[in-house]
Order: sequence, then C-alpha cells, then structure tokens
Amino acid sequence: MSLTSIEESELPEGDVTVDIAFSTLNYKDALAITGKSPIVKQYPMIPGIDFAGTVSSSTHADFKAGDPVVLNGWGVGEKHWGGLAEKARVSGDWLIPLPKAFSPRQAMAIGTAGYTAMLCVMALEKNGVTPDSGDILVTGATGGVGSIAVALLAKRGYSVTAVTGRSEEADYLKSLGAGNILDRAELSEPGKPLVRETWAGAIDVAGGQVLANVCAGMKYRGVVAACGLAAGMDFPSTVAPFILRGVTLCGVDSVMAPKAERLEAWKRLSEDLDIDLLERMITEIPFEDAIEGASQLLDGKVRGRIVVPVA
Ligand code: NDP
Repeated sequence: MSLTSIEESELPEGDVTVDIAFSTLNYKDALAITGKSPIVKQYPMIPGIDFAGTVSSSTHADFKAGDPVVLNGWGVGEKHWGGLAEKARVSGDWLIPLPKAFSPRQAMAIGTAGYTAMLCVMALEKNGVTPDSGDILVTGATGGVGSIAVALLAKRGYSVTAVTGRSEEADYLKSLGAGNILDRAELSEPGKPLVRETWAGAIDVAGGQVLANVCAGMKYRGVVAACGLAAGMDFPSTVAPFILRGVTLCGVDSVMAPKAERLEAWKRLSEDLDIDLLERMITEIPFEDAIEGASQLLDGKVRGRIVVPVA
C-alpha cells in the first residue's frame, strides 16, 4: 500500500459522492493495509471500511448535498474503494445519517469497532441477558471493540470483567467501567469442555482457544456474542456448553447487517456511550501515518481507537 493522488473521475460507480472528514483504523483495515489477511478482494484498492463526512453530490432519494453521513462495512475497503481518502463514491443504500449526538470525529472514534460492540450488546439483550443475570466477560478489552463494549455495558448497569493481555492498562479499563480484570493468559490455554459456571454473558473479539474457554465458563443459559478472531479463526470447543448448559453462541457480523439494525445500533450509541469516556479511547494520527499505524495495531500497541482526520 502507498499514499498517492488520483483524479476524482477515477472513483468507482455510486449514486452518492462524499467529502470524507474522518476515517479510522479498524483491525480489518490493519489486516488489509499490511496484507496479513486476504481482506482486499481486488486491486487497486483504497482501504478503509468506514468513514464520516458530508455528501457533496447525490442522485439517491435519501441524501442531498450537505448531509452529514456515516458508512460502515458493505465491503467498502475490501471490494469497493474505501474511507482512507478525501472522497468516496458509494451506493446511498450503504449510508446512514450521522447521528446528531456525534461529530464526524466522534463517529469515527466509534467506527465499525464501536458499532460492532453495540451490535454485540444488543445480541446479549435480545437473548435475555440483563444486569441482574450476572457478570459479563469482555475479551480484547483494551482494543477498539472491547473498550467500547466495556463502557456501554457498564453504563447500562452490567458488572463487567475485562480480559486483557496488558495488565498495565488495568486503570484505563476500570475508568471505562470494568469491575474486574482477568489476565488473558487464563483463557489462552486448552482447558476442560466445562468449567465453573461464572459468566452470564460474554462479548468475544478473540475466537480460537479464548472463545472455547469462554463458552466453557458460561452459566446455565448464558449468552456469548462472538465477533472477532484476534486469537484465531479456529474454535476448538465441544458441544458440552450448548447441550448441557443451554449456552447460546450468537455470531455478530457488522458488514452486511441490515439497515434497521445499524440505525438501532447508532441510536443506542447516541444514548448509551459516554462521550468523555470515548475521548479517553482516542489516538489521532495524521493521514500520512495510517500505513505505519496499521502495523502498530496488529502488534497490540494501540489502546482503544485510532482516528484519522482526512479533510
Ligand atoms: P483491536 O486490535 O483494537 O483489538 C483487539 C484486541 O484483542 C487487542 O487490543 C488485544 O486486547 C486482544 N488480543 C490481541 N491478540 C490476542 C490474542 N492472541 N488472544 C486474545 N486477545 C488478543 O481490534 P478491534 O477491536 O477493532 O477488533 C477486534 C476483533 O473483532 C478483530 O478480530 C476484528 O476483525 C473483529 N471485528 C469483527 C467485526 C464483525 O463485523 N464481526 C467488526 C469489527 C471487528 P488486550 O491487549 O486487551 O488483550
């Protein structure tokens, strides 16, 4: 990947053109930029799975010039040119209005990571988890999805245990609302199919052995929202948690989620996310540093969310 200039006429087809104000680096962007995973489906590609900006021209019925908008997913930054650019041309069906509660910078501090964290919280709730059900486990807690999930759950009154490989970030996690901190190493090794019933709910960004151990420690009828693969793509579990404890494993995908769910997630973020806490999660990097930032994110050197001002 390299930073380069192109003509606006080269932008792909779409009925809405957007002047991008802010983009961000998500885990998937880092995989795309570094080439560590086959995220990019065709080249040349502009990475960036999300952006916030202002419509500059539109023939789509729902949007007109001047409208503030947000985009998450839909294959943007993977198979359609993405958000790490000054302009994007996309289908208006992929856009949602920028929620009034957020500036474009705040919307990208949330980004796809935060919107996915909200989808995970909604998945727990839809399956009956309430603050009275018991403790909720969040893995990858100092990362983007994890940090926002901890803050959202704590605000709603849940008791949250944050799993992290970075014990030095315990104060940060407590400031977001985590009641307890658990060392990632305790969930990283192969364990028994079932262990002591501990968690009423879990949001997992890790997958792999971590997710298997999370499932093994769920309470009867506990619910796990699984959205990530930071520890691995595999799932070395048994059916025991599901058939003996009635555990529910909910897959969460943000890319193709239906529009109604996106609007609901962003509305809930407007209501539930404390802006002061969000500010604590932000590292802002210049556009020129996005390629280097991608490597740092995959190396686990980034806390919270990276925001990239574009305009
Ligand atoms: P980040 O890099 O910001 O956070 C990932 C965190 O995972 C790290 O900060 C680290 O937290 C933890 N981690 C890293 N390596 C391991 C490991 N080997 N075992 C366990 N935990 C580990 O990424 P995001 O928060 O942006 O994304 C997290 C995951 O969610 C990614 O896999 C991403 O692809 C996925 N995702 C999926 C979406 C979907 O639609 N399904 C949407 C958005 C993200 P700590 O140091 O605190 O342990």
